[in-house]
Amino acid sequence: MSQHPQLDYFLESLFKEQGAEGVVESLSFLFGSFVITKDGVVIGANQDFISLIEYDLAELIGMDAMDLITPDERPYLESRFVTNSTDRYELKLLTKSNKIKYTIVSPKIFLVNDDKYRLAEFIDISEQKQALANLQNQEGKYRSVFDFADIGIARVDLGGSWLECNKKLCDIVGYSKEELLQLSFQDITHPDDLAMDLTHVRELLANERKTYAMEKRYIHKSGYPIWINLTVSLVRDSNREPMYFISFIEDISEIKITRDKLRFSKEIVSVTTDMLAEVDDNFVYLAVNKSYLAAFGLSEAEILGKTILEVFGEDFYNTTIKVNAEKTKLGETVRYQDWFKFPATGLKFMDITYTPVVDTDNYKGFVVSARDITALKKAQDVIIKNEEKFRSMFESLPLAIYVSKGIDQVAEFINSTFTKMFGYTIDDVPTVNDWFLKAYPDDDYRQELAEGWQLEVEEAIKLKSSIKQIETYVTCKDGTEKYIRWGYICLEEANYAFGLDITLQKVAEIKLLNENEKLEHLSAFDGLTDITNRRMFDLNLKKEWLRAQRNASSLSLIMIDIDFFKAYNDNYGHIKGDECLKLIAETLDKIATRSVDMVARFGGEEFAILLPDTDLQQCRKIAENCCSAIFKLQIPHEYSSVSNVVTISLGVSSSRPKKGVDSLSLIKSADKLLYQAKNNGRNRVEYH
Ligand code: GH3
Ligand code: MG
Ligand code: MG
Repeated sequence: MSQHPQLDYFLESLFKEQGAEGVVESLSFLFGSFVITKDGVVIGANQDFISLIEYDLAELIGMDAMDLITPDERPYLESRFVTNSTDRYELKLLTKSNKIKYTIVSPKIFLVNDDKYRLAEFIDISEQKQALANLQNQEGKYRSVFDFADIGIARVDLGGSWLECNKKLCDIVGYSKEELLQLSFQDITHPDDLAMDLTHVRELLANERKTYAMEKRYIHKSGYPIWINLTVSLVRDSNREPMYFISFIEDISEIKITRDKLRFSKEIVSVTTDMLAEVDDNFVYLAVNKSYLAAFGLSEAEILGKTILEVFGEDFYNTTIKVNAEKTKLGETVRYQDWFKFPATGLKFMDITYTPVVDTDNYKGFVVSARDITALKKAQDVIIKNEEKFRSMFESLPLAIYVSKGIDQVAEFINSTFTKMFGYTIDDVPTVNDWFLKAYPDDDYRQELAEGWQLEVEEAIKLKSSIKQIETYVTCKDGTEKYIRWGYICLEEANYAFGLDITLQKVAEIKLLNENEKLEHLSAFDGLTDITNRRMFDLNLKKEWLRAQRNASSLSLIMIDIDFFKAYNDNYGHIKGDECLKLIAETLDKIATRSVDMVARFGGEEFAILLPDTDLQQCRKIAENCCSAIFKLQIPHEYSSVSNVVTISLGVSSSRPKKGVDSLSLIKSADKLLYQAKNNGRNRVEYH
């Protein structure tokens, strides 16, 4: 068994005295839920466990532990029962109503009268698991929209650097992903369009608008300008702090050319699907194309000669069109996006441009170019909503999340739980390497983690897989330590580390050990001599007696009594007497040294040595060694009638215990021989 030996004893004695209920009661200071099983059958559980598993106590008692877990876990649990592993692991519990509860279980094993008892302590992590599953699901969905969308999509940091981009964007600008991520949007924006773009960015950051759209030029990798339609939104964290931009980039070079040539080429006008029209200075239609007519379900004759107001109706004209149309009179090109309800084609989200027509300084009207971007708008809304959902999920999870990129694991994002949990911000731990230095300041510990975990992480990044969870002691920014259970998943674009704080459970575990250490001195060891006490000796004798019965092996016992110790006490005083007892105990303890041997203070100035798998001859030798070792201590004892130093008398008995014979018989027989040793002159060993 790998667990703390004192824990065995603590649980064992607690169980013996107070039964399963007592164990549950006494351990109530621990965190979580418990169940106690004997040979795999439930014999007790605390209230928390009952709530978790939904069976009441009466139903639970007598149930097979295997019926409390999901069927796929059974072979694993069986194998753990065989190996008696007490390592903590994840286990799926199956509740009465067939719900699955994800838990972390810490098993403890103890033996009482050769029966194997298990105390299993659970932390319910279902909520975290579910959140994590949703997150991964969400991430997957989000990825596919991102990667396969027919428009360029990018995440851009607040300084303008590309954080992430999809394939379409690469196609538009001619750079590979790797190349693009080394650049900022400023680097590839046409110099004439940069000022306007930066103005919009400032407006977003100042919360003056939620999103902006503009036509602008990028410079293609090959050096020529490309017209794009850019829509940018700012993603904020749960505290409404700006985090990064999400940009949608649509290649409109062809449309742009079409539009600019409108007035010169009627052929182009007829092939484009954009709605095109030209109006005069009184906003009377001069020309319209097929798409324009189709949207209204009108013929050319029905529209030409009418005003925009007449075609759209007064309300819509006044609320949406008028302000923009009026601006063209000042020579301004106007661009806006809005919902339009067309008589024939219905509600559409339109991207509209009004280009003024100016002839030798005289305003002649404007050209309307309108594109249906309803589908694009919907796609953008989905992505932004997804993005926000994704972020808010990240933020609301009770898990610390560290999202990093590449083999160097450069931090891309950490959630607020991470900062709350550890105190570190992204600036404190910009790479995983920085994290390791801060979180694990102890060189040896860090080294140990780096050797194991870090290598596995690197492998997982290469293989895009996850790794086995580990638990570490993290040093927080304020110097406190937390015990964290880590999971690590590598997805297509990023690596995710998830940390669950299980300090409470760990503290409870340590508390149990400490508690147990206190108890141990009260119940297992003798206060004066610090060797095993009578209580522990009795327990152990019974255990070894049964074991010897089972194995048909021999069990030997030496009973020891100090000679004329009353006289020693009376003459040298009790303090000297105690010192003498301690020295003798210490000396005897060093003689029987196998782990199964037990040297105990039997009472007063009497000691017992229990020697499993030892026959009479071997035992007699050990007894003789004890006798001479005490003599050699040369503790002066003027008042002894057998010597001028302290001596001991010993009775040695050995037995191959038979069924039905009590272990007390071994003590009785050794005691009888001790009495004989006294009678036969003391400072000697008697045996049979
Ligand atoms: P014998 O050789 O027949 O064993 O003689 P004895 O004097 O040792 O006999 P007895 O068993 O009557 O005396 C035991 C004495 O041991 C009594 C008591 O003074 C002393 N004693 C028992 N426990 C302690 C203890 O914890 N501390 C000290 N200082 N003395 C103890
Ligand atoms: Mg005595
Ligand atoms: Mg004595």
